[in-house]
Amino acid sequence: MTATSAASAAYIVAGLLFILSLAGLSRHETAKSGNAFGIAGMALALAATVGVATRDISAIGLTLLVVAVVIGAAIGLWRARAVEMTGMPELIALLHSFVGLAAVLVGWNGYLSVEGADPSDGGSTLRGAEAGIHSGEVVIGVFIGAVTFTGSIVAFLKLSARIKSNPLMLPGRNWLNLGALALFAVLTVVFVVEPNLLVLSVVTALALALGWHLVASIGGGDMPVVVSMLNSYSGWAAAASGFLLGNDLLIITGALVGSSGAYLSYIMCKAMNRSFISVIAGGFGNEGSAAASDVDYGEHTEIGAEDVAELLRDADSVVITPGYGMAVAQAQGAVADLTRKLIDRGVQVRFGIHPVAGRLPGHMNVLLAEAKVPYDVVLEMDEINDDLAGTSVVLVIGANDTVNPAAAEDPTSPIAGMPVLRVWEAERVVVFKRSMNTGYAGVQNPLFFRDNSRMLFGDARERVEDILRAL
Ligand code: NDP
Repeated sequence: MTATSAASAAYIVAGLLFILSLAGLSRHETAKSGNAFGIAGMALALAATVGVATRDISAIGLTLLVVAVVIGAAIGLWRARAVEMTGMPELIALLHSFVGLAAVLVGWNGYLSVEGADPSDGGSTLRGAEAGIHSGEVVIGVFIGAVTFTGSIVAFLKLSARIKSNPLMLPGRNWLNLGALALFAVLTVVFVVEPNLLVLSVVTALALALGWHLVASIGGGDMPVVVSMLNSYSGWAAAASGFLLGNDLLIITGALVGSSGAYLSYIMCKAMNRSFISVIAGGFGNEGSAAASDVDYGEHTEIGAEDVAELLRDADSVVITPGYGMAVAQAQGAVADLTRKLIDRGVQVRFGIHPVAGRLPGHMNVLLAEAKVPYDVVLEMDEINDDLAGTSVVLVIGANDTVNPAAAEDPTSPIAGMPVLRVWEAERVVVFKRSMNTGYAGVQNPLFFRDNSRMLFGDARERVEDILRAL
């Protein structure tokens, strides 16, 4: 067997391992084995790629390759160990930006080493249709890569709160996006007919600006979908690089990431009652409603930990709806202890998990599983919503947007139409947070001012521990 056919066989096996990995990651119980398949697939792919490369490149090139892999792996390991769960979405966004940048560099390299090759060295060896296809791959790869690169950087800046998460509302912004796409289509044709440096530079600049604008126009509430959409873009960018480099595995892997990311975005849009097209087109149709923070909702009522313990002692049923604040406070361990204590006292305790609670899909489920909360009391929003009306006490622990009644009741709210946990229907609601500040979407929450709501201020973990002591 030649080295190339051995590499092809290894690529097919790696592709299968990636498919098994995706299948495993789709369920809690199998997620760990899904990860193991992914790692095995990537190790095999890397070994095969380096194996093939050893035939074609010099000793210096090979040394550089190995050094780059070692440095990259060391940085990756360090970041993966250091990152907090709450910092995962911005890390993912940053990693997507690297895929985008790599696709731009591969595209430019493809141009410079073929179409832009020095005629004194013989120039391009490609002719006719082959040359046209190569130019098309270059320009499309650079475009998708550049959109992914700047889009992911804006997502990183928004998610890490380095810039405001409010949508940028340029006048006629949908026309700007459409105009950029139309111009890209024209420039692609020009580049395929007559490849030149100027056109490729303009396409790169146009795509960088479009990526920036697309994500800047998307509001905080839609950021979860944006993260998974950029995941999809990075897959397509990798697939485009695969075509240019003639690497089948990169094409397969890119397509897997691209299509699974697109499907996840679609599922999340459905869960949030958002139009998929509207979100991927950079907030298309979101004409920016009045910020509900100016509305006077009246007074809120505070409660102390001892009084909450009293409420829980008398309760028949308790539902806990955690959110991002539980992750920030690292309160999951204390929440699990509280759950056990209440169950031991004969109280029915269940969790209601909103699909976008926290800062990445499944964030709350992972934290609760880590804290050993049994799976069977952790329910999805749709499974618990109808039971909330008959619940004695709902504990809203560090959640805000995901329990905001304005989404269901106020058509002018920026989060109008997003399905929420209807916690206000319970007999009593206790909201754990540190202040009256808004949540991620930047809108005030009328829940805090309802007659049956009580505010328990302070760090969620400390307050849950206070309740445990009082119980
Ligand atoms: P929110 O961001 O709406 O609210 C979190 C709340 O936690 C805040 O009101 C904050 O109030 C409180 N909080 C923060 N730290 C603490 C602490 N130490 N102790 C107690 N409370 C604390 O979170 P939700 O989970 O309800 O909603 C998720 C939001 O994030 C949605 O808007 C969603 O669209 C968005 N998003 C989701 C992603 C996903 O994939 N799931 C990805 C990106 C964004 P205070 O400051 O007063 O303490």
